[in-house]
Amino acid sequence: MSTDTYLNLVNSGVTKKIATQLGLPRPAPLRRYRAGQPLLAGPVLVLGTGADADAVARLLSGTSLDDTGLERGWDLDVRRTAAPGERHAAIVLVLTEVTHPDQLAEPMLAAASVLKGLAPGARIVTISRPAGAEDGPAQAAARQGIDGVLRSLAKELRGGATANGVVVADGVTVTAPSALGALRFFLSTRSAFVDGQLLHVDSEAGALPADWERPLAGRVAVVTGAARGIGASIAKTLARDGATVVAVDVPAAGEQLAAVANAVRGTALQLDVTAEDAGQKILEHATTRHGRLDIVVHNAGITRDKLLANMTPEKWAPVLAVNVAAPLRINEALLESGDFIDAPRIIGLASTSGIAGNRGQTNYAASKGGVIGMVRATAPLLTAFGGTANAVAPGFIETEMTARIPALTRQVARRLNSLQQGGQPVDVAETVAFLASPQAGGILGQTLRVCGQNMVGQ
Ligand code: NAD
Repeated sequence: MSTDTYLNLVNSGVTKKIATQLGLPRPAPLRRYRAGQPLLAGPVLVLGTGADADAVARLLSGTSLDDTGLERGWDLDVRRTAAPGERHAAIVLVLTEVTHPDQLAEPMLAAASVLKGLAPGARIVTISRPAGAEDGPAQAAARQGIDGVLRSLAKELRGGATANGVVVADGVTVTAPSALGALRFFLSTRSAFVDGQLLHVDSEAGALPADWERPLAGRVAVVTGAARGIGASIAKTLARDGATVVAVDVPAAGEQLAAVANAVRGTALQLDVTAEDAGQKILEHATTRHGRLDIVVHNAGITRDKLLANMTPEKWAPVLAVNVAAPLRINEALLESGDFIDAPRIIGLASTSGIAGNRGQTNYAASKGGVIGMVRATAPLLTAFGGTANAVAPGFIETEMTARIPALTRQVARRLNSLQQGGQPVDVAETVAFLASPQAGGILGQTLRVCGQNMVGQ
């Protein structure tokens, strides 16, 4: 049962009937990831023509992609022509070869013909190329048009269905590890609260995991702010995916921190991330206790909301210090150490407030916009050794932080996205785990929103 009582009411018994008659929003309970669950619970329709569409269809259907045998195919029930009346679990539109907006009609109308019969929690994923200044105008128009279609379609879907896009850079193949990794993430229930987003794949770097259920096996991860909320969920999710986890939080949260560390069979490190030597302390703990450090998740964060007109140094400074200055200093120490070089991953926690702005949160938005800039400029410093830096921008997530928002405001905030509900900490954690994985090695300096396609912002 969700903590969202409205969602529970409109999905059960007599109150469900009343809500339907009144035309009230009916958020669908979202299907979330469980180990051993099939990737899709029904057929997938692959639309689009050309070599890329054929390669994706082959992979999804279970044919080996190459001679290595590593990528065995995903054993899905793949259809290549739209059959209205069929109950599809997913539609994949491979649109990498469009050169004119006229070419969008055929695949989009084919998708349209099966939309009404989609299974609950269905997935629609586009695979396309970025529209650049070097493209001809017609090609750029077609490519940018896909962006518009995708975002609009995501707003039309119901029943917990989502639409997201993988945008593969020119020169990078659609079967690059990160293109396939992103496709699989968007098809899976791991992306339950990610909606209306386009994720760019900029290089062939990265590797497909030997085991999709434990892609982080053998990796050591540090999660800051791990004593509760989203951080605790990130620690659990990374551990579930095979990582050894170091859980970091302030000494005042020591008891809760120990409980999280024990639950994930990891270790606890009591540390204020704003300490001058936090980076050195983190590295020392990870290497002496676990032999290495591969993944850092900068999740520790605070708010001190005030209109800028009433802002004080006491409200401004700590927010910037914890949310962005500490991650900057820690990253610098790790990069200088020479011990963070085996396909390392840095993941920052941004916020939709840092993208769209939020009244009363100038300090917080400065820090979270800061995280977006930080990962964009940090990624190039890591690519030489197969590393990446990316961020996750949560929208409204059900945590102790958001439980303190006044009841009515909270009800409204929950409904202001295409899925008409707040996300769960695990939704943010799943996205962090994906960006930490070997299959995300070609995703460089991006910020992926986990917001149910919040009406605020892009
Ligand atoms: P939370 O307040 O429940 O947990 C934050 C944790 O960080 C706490 O355990 C706290 O002790 C720790 N922390 C704070 N300052 C620290 C410091 N100096 N050193 C070490 N640890 C410190 O918050 P949450 O809701 O779980 O949010 C986690 C992250 O996600 C934050 O960065 C937050 O800004 C971001 N976020 C949350 C939401 C949301 O809806 N909850 C939305 C957008 C972004």
